[in-house]
Amino acid sequence: MFRRLLDSPTTYFVAAGLMVLVAVAAQFDLSFPSRTVGEAAEIRELRDRDDLNLVFIVVDTLRADRVGVYGYERPTTENLDALAQHGIVFRDVLAQSSWTKTSMASLWTGTLPFNNGILRFGDALPTEARLPAEILRDAGFRTAGIYRNGWVAPNFGFDQGFEFYQRPRPGRSRMEAESRHPAGGTLEGSDEDSLVAAMDFLHSFGNERFFLYMHMMDLHQYRYAEGTPDFGSSYSDYYDMAIHWTDRVIGHLHEQLRKSGQLQNTIIVIASDHGEAFREHGFEGHARNLFTEVVNVPWIIGLPFQLDPGVVIDEPVSNIDIWPTLLDLMGLPGLTNPDGRSLVPLILERAGVQDSNTSWRRPQFAYLDRGWGWPEREIPIVAVTDSGRKLVWWPKLDPPEFQLFDTEADPGEQTNLYVPGDPDTERLFDAAREKYESPQNAWGVEARQVELDEMRLNQLRALGYAVPRQR
Ligand SMILES: [Zn+2]
Repeated sequence: MFRRLLDSPTTYFVAAGLMVLVAVAAQFDLSFPSRTVGEAAEIRELRDRDDLNLVFIVVDTLRADRVGVYGYERPTTENLDALAQHGIVFRDVLAQSSWTKTSMASLWTGTLPFNNGILRFGDALPTEARLPAEILRDAGFRTAGIYRNGWVAPNFGFDQGFEFYQRPRPGRSRMEAESRHPAGGTLEGSDEDSLVAAMDFLHSFGNERFFLYMHMMDLHQYRYAEGTPDFGSSYSDYYDMAIHWTDRVIGHLHEQLRKSGQLQNTIIVIASDHGEAFREHGFEGHARNLFTEVVNVPWIIGLPFQLDPGVVIDEPVSNIDIWPTLLDLMGLPGLTNPDGRSLVPLILERAGVQDSNTSWRRPQFAYLDRGWGWPEREIPIVAVTDSGRKLVWWPKLDPPEFQLFDTEADPGEQTNLYVPGDPDTERLFDAAREKYESPQNAWGVEARQVELDEMRLNQLRALGYAVPRQR
């Protein structure tokens, strides 16, 4: 049904209309009005509601420090800021990798990369993994995922639990758009196409309980359309312009939900899989290392009512905490063997409606195999952050390499303070070594291995990744 809608001529009529609407929205202030004002105590009551929907938006490649509510001075994110201001914002969030597939496997399953094994080119989630969409589907939600990133394609197991899991068909007409990514890559379609597909889904199933996942990709491609302010001509400026554009697309979705009266019963979550580097540590792009610019990401929860003020969480948390928190918030069953934890008690504590007397600080971990695309090249990198210190460890370099940063005094991670034998360093190293050397297999099975055909390889090359030729 959904596929038919995506292919229908009506879709293109609707698509053209929506694109005009997005253009119009640029000229008028459509930044979020109108959810009813709620009390913080209502957060606790969400679990008892049987009318809640969930919209989960992953903005691929969005680093936290380019978002207004995270302190950025440029006006990039009017709509995200408004959502955060009256909802819940986590200000210190670590993605579990700087490469989409490893990061998204952790985000969905609440497990660390060491324990889920989705680390390299051909690794895929096994069917034994239980994904949030399966839990939501089993609880009676209509489930749809709209993605344009080949690393979260069905062949890697990311479609589990989705009734509809689709790349939107590229629109035939669209606004003038620029794509200024340094690595090039011509990813077909746009986030407007994803928006059209989302509207189709909501049109068909919005009167039932629904879970909608949108994986936005225009930012990954530094793509923006007309009506975007001119921030300059560096890659970093183009990136900011693409954030502004993506924020507008999200604002439009929000406006549609408002018009259809669904804001009062829909939770809207914004997350990201990794950031983007602009030569802070010598590289552009991502999937090369684990420094702050590529692993610190936003996480915002828009509630079905407005809080005034919203809840701000400063404790360091991780993307693996997202789904344990959301499932708990909605009173749904949890994930299997998650390493992440529900932060609902922390939210209630910061909202002033509950005491927990828990210490919420604990080490946060990230992992990247920088050799993920090469058959015989394994270059693991492990990062651990705790109590204002971050240790980055390259265990297979000869000799192994270490970097230690003071994340409070040196948030850009520019000064390596590593001294062998220092007690703080040793404590972090012990924590990192335990995770890396003693993985706790999350589902009792290894990652599935998949072969990629040329079509799929080309879809990945279109993102600008130097995907190797398979032998
Ligand atoms: Zn990504």
